[in-house]
Amino acid sequence: MILRNTLLYLSRQTQLRGWMETSPLAGRFTKRFVAGQTLEQGIAVCRKLNAGCILTTIDHLGENVTSAAEAEASRDAYLEALERVAAENLPSTVSIKPTQFGMDLSEEFCQANLEPLVAAAARIGSCVEIDMEASGYLDRTLRLVRAMHSRHPSVRAVIQAYLRRGEADVEALCGDRIPVRLCKGAYNEPATLAFPSKRDVDRNYLRLARVLLRKGVYPAFATHDPNMVNPTLDAALELGVQAGQFEFQMLYGIRRDVQNMLTSGGYRLRLYVPYGVAWYPYFMRRLAERPANLLFLARNLFRH
Ligand SMILES: Cc1cc2nc3c(=O)[nH]c(=O)nc-3n(C[C@H](O)[C@H](O)[C@H](O)COP(=O)(O)OP(=O)(O)OC[C@H]3O[C@@H](n4cnc5c(N)ncnc54)[C@H](O)[C@@H]3O)c2cc1C
Repeated sequence: MILRNTLLYLSRQTQLRGWMETSPLAGRFTKRFVAGQTLEQGIAVCRKLNAGCILTTIDHLGENVTSAAEAEASRDAYLEALERVAAENLPSTVSIKPTQFGMDLSEEFCQANLEPLVAAAARIGSCVEIDMEASGYLDRTLRLVRAMHSRHPSVRAVIQAYLRRGEADVEALCGDRIPVRLCKGAYNEPATLAFPSKRDVDRNYLRLARVLLRKGVYPAFATHDPNMVNPTLDAALELGVQAGQFEFQMLYGIRRDVQNMLTSGGYRLRLYVPYGVAWYPYFMRRLAERPANLLFLARNLFRH
């Protein structure tokens, strides 16, 4: 727990971030979890995964931008990514973070900045998946999702099962026919808002998965945990939900054994494929989720 919290603390240190992201060793740190620094590398990974019948969602790395120009540059990077998705006919969505689109500047700016991307996704039959960040952004993010969904149906919300209010939010989104990605949650939250014990988070995840299977619109179950995957498959069978009516989502480079188990069983799997130079906070959250990854990092650093 101490190591996890330290890694999450370090993930927010901007000076360290600047130093790490410009390090010539960056590629060696990140290659297991990040497709590369350029769109070309991101698309190449999507193409390869798609050849193995795996769907993708592209993440142009970046968050907490501090100027309108940066937020607009993020939007343009995503518009370019969607153009490539359309040109290559890839079964890919895009995943964005509200703070990357200017949520820290203002809600109105963020909505206006995101709208052209959601419209572009609708035009090509893709979807914008709106990641959920720390709880301070939750209400604003749900308002953003609803505002986008009222104009184009091509958006997906994310709900974090570690939050106590998760069930109410899932019910409300299902009521509004908004698709949901369910994950456990990756940020450091106080016990007043989030279940502190893994057991309670897991229990809530499975409870919400059942709600989504019963009432959701093509739900996505984002987890690498076989103790979430298997009961969700059992629940789908019990509730008569067919394999094509939901999908699992996992992060690029994590638990390939569970990925193979799903694809060989004929289930839909979408991998979250991050690319870009701003890899540090994403990468540090992956380390915090599993500090044993530090060993992997050390091995790659000293391997020539
Ligand atoms: C597609 C996708 C989208 C996501 N979007 C969001 C989001 O919008 N907001 C948000 O807060 N969180 C998001 N997350 C992160 C999520 O909330 C969890 O922090 C993360 O997925 C770990 O939880 P788990 O369900 O895999 O279960 P865990 O119990 O944490 O892990 C289960 C097993 O998976 C493996 N594993 C998990 N993480 C790692 C890792 N980093 N490295 C190596 N092995 C690992 C381990 O073998 C572990 O035992 C997303 C996750 C995925 C897969």
